[in-house]
Amino acid sequence: MKHISTLLFAFIIVTAVHAQKPRPDAFPPVPDSLAPKVVNMATTLDEMASWDRYPTYEVYVDMMQRFANDYPTLCHLDTIGTSVQNRLILSLSITGTGDTSGRPEFFYTSTMHGDEVTGFYLMLRLCDTLLRSYGTSADITNLLNRVRVYINPLSNPDGTYHGGNHTVASSIRYNANYVDLNRNYPDPFGTDPLDPLQKENEVMINYVQNHHFLLSANLHGGSEVMNYPWDSYTSYQQLNEHANWWKEVSKRFVDTCRLYDNRRFRDVTSNGYINGGDWYVIHNGRQDYFNYYCDVREITMELSTSKTLSTDRLQHYWNCQSHALINFIKEIFTIPNATENITPAIATHYNVYPNPTRGPITVTTPTHAYHYNLSDRPAGVYVIPVEGRAVKVVKY
Ligand SMILES: [Zn+2]
Repeated sequence: MKHISTLLFAFIIVTAVHAQKPRPDAFPPVPDSLAPKVVNMATTLDEMASWDRYPTYEVYVDMMQRFANDYPTLCHLDTIGTSVQNRLILSLSITGTGDTSGRPEFFYTSTMHGDEVTGFYLMLRLCDTLLRSYGTSADITNLLNRVRVYINPLSNPDGTYHGGNHTVASSIRYNANYVDLNRNYPDPFGTDPLDPLQKENEVMINYVQNHHFLLSANLHGGSEVMNYPWDSYTSYQQLNEHANWWKEVSKRFVDTCRLYDNRRFRDVTSNGYINGGDWYVIHNGRQDYFNYYCDVREITMELSTSKTLSTDRLQHYWNCQSHALINFIKEIFTIPNATENITPAIATHYNVYPNPTRGPITVTTPTHAYHYNLSDRPAGVYVIPVEGRAVKVVKY
């Protein structure tokens, strides 16, 4: 019964906040300038060379494969999974040469809202810059020798290429089933998503659960603000235990961008960062799921007031944000005790899959595999004791 009353309470809160303060992320964007929007597409790899276009889907996939082909000692290409319409959800894993064991894992993932394509572009360019700069830039060489960076530039390809593989001009927020992927994660605080778990999110959950990311950023657009957990609660209702650390990290990111353009990150708060729920409470978002269930410190970065940024503005946004994006990877070393815990954490790491599940659950530890079945149990959150640790599992 407690569960039901919590649900009702959450529903009332959400309804009330919706009426008062619409989240800009969910509404048509404010134009970044009054100039007409231009969306130029690169239809060949060569046309991406000057970084003033968005790639077609084919060029995007070719770029990711070319990174892996051109820098085989620095990176490899993973397929996280496929979308509803069978487009690829790709991740490039990049780290420096030498002994790579024990390097902490960092994750950038962008554009789960298909029309918020600034991050898609920025992440492709970040892949290119990290790979080109290894061995020439001492800063990036040193960084990549200490961290393994995973970059997933596009987590909702069907939304981005809704108008066809040749253009992002007709992109939409939703996936091919018209589901908002950032309202579709199991909620750690007890609200079930309206729709079944979508394929894009299911493969992402499996990917994250099979890695050990310490720090992650999920890139969006439509506003400019660093949105840290929780999204399900205001800071007054439930403060995230790392809130002070998130504020410091966010301030460094925003201040670095403002060194280039002091107008940036001002449309939501003057300091450029906010506790997610203080801006707008959402449930079933990705951020709370990963922070709560996956031991990942994940932040939502809203990086451009325009969702589908005019291509003549791309260079400016890269100039403004590239240093902050690179420096944010280094924040992995500001997580208290992070470096001390890396080796033991990996040594005792266990995987839980599939999670969420419709029934069967496998928990693997370095030495054992345990199998459970929740098929005859009602939907909800279960805690399974495994080798002295509490494993949280979602049945849906
Ligand atoms: Zn978004």
